[in-house]
Amino acid sequence: MKERIYYTKPSITEKEVRYATDAARNGWGKQCYEYINQFEELFKQHLGVKYAIATSSCTGALHMGLAALDIGPGDEVVLADTNWIATVAPVLHLGAKPVFVDILPDTWCLDHILVEEAITPRTKAIIAVHIYGNLCEMDELMAIGEKHGLPVIEDAAEAIGSIYHGKRAGSMGKFGAFSFHGTKTVTTGEGGMFVTQSDELYEKVLSLSNHGRVREQVKQFWPDMIGFKYKMSNVQAAIGCAQMERIDDLIAAKRRVFGYYAEGFKGMPVTMNQEPEGTQNGFWMPSIIVDEGVQFDREALLASFKENNIDGRVFFWPLSMLPMFERKPMNKVSYDLYQRAINLPSYHDLTESEMDRVIDLLVKNFNQG
Ligand SMILES: *Cc1c(COP(=O)(O)O)cnc(C)c1O
Repeated sequence: MKERIYYTKPSITEKEVRYATDAARNGWGKQCYEYINQFEELFKQHLGVKYAIATSSCTGALHMGLAALDIGPGDEVVLADTNWIATVAPVLHLGAKPVFVDILPDTWCLDHILVEEAITPRTKAIIAVHIYGNLCEMDELMAIGEKHGLPVIEDAAEAIGSIYHGKRAGSMGKFGAFSFHGTKTVTTGEGGMFVTQSDELYEKVLSLSNHGRVREQVKQFWPDMIGFKYKMSNVQAAIGCAQMERIDDLIAAKRRVFGYYAEGFKGMPVTMNQEPEGTQNGFWMPSIIVDEGVQFDREALLASFKENNIDGRVFFWPLSMLPMFERKPMNKVSYDLYQRAINLPSYHDLTESEMDRVIDLLVKNFNQG
């Protein structure tokens, strides 16, 4: 059996090991927040934003940000149907109602025309998720937000390295949220980041993230409101600092992997993640969509991946297909795309011969089909 090809794994060098070891050995007492502060600083610089708060996950960052915007029972939040559950779970934890709208067939992100149609007097926010590194139409979404007085929130968990007309994903909305889960472009094992340009929102989330203790409070152990505990540890942040020092290489590695696949699939009846004029795609996860009308059996393909010891991954299901939601088959693109799509292995250090194994398998699949 050929060696297993994992769909993702982090890029860890001696630098990450050295920083984590230092944090474990020395990052206590006076130094207990040193790597956290440094990680936030490096992240802010990379993104070009005013504020960043390291968190234990992207889910936690979204939860606090939405809470700080006072989203709660009776409110509606508009987001794309094609998504990972992490984006919508905090909306439900806060008692608000998610409104799933369809995606665009080329970017696989929010269809802005449908977003505007979905707005009601109860709408409180729009969440723009940059799926698989692909960018949402931010100009259009921000204009809709402005027109209706609604914040646009960016879930940029999959969009490290993605740039929209000079602005990095996550830096454009009312706030942005990132994930450093082990499968993401930058990792701390588990972890996340809340970012914003807003002084007011930053202060609010900072207090919430500190169990509701506001900065000016002089009384010890005196929370002023019920907050959250979604903090990142100093040891995790140490790994994050090493990753941030290598971020250009990490992004370049993802782009190299995508480029090799794109070349290998030339002439095949598939499309991949798009990179429209004026944008850069961080290509977190190269995915293929099989052309409409082409004979394709997703389950059979995934089975042959497995046989060949290669990890294949299903494209996100429409969230409204999950048992806890009401089905929305009128979201035609979301209900169609997932059936003719898969995600490919894409970790930074994937070799050309490993990618050739993936490409050969797909070529064979389509020749038979
Ligand atoms: C990974 C991911 C998340 C969740 O990140 P966690 O750090 O695991 O909470 C949220 N949204 C999207 C789009 C993701 O891909």
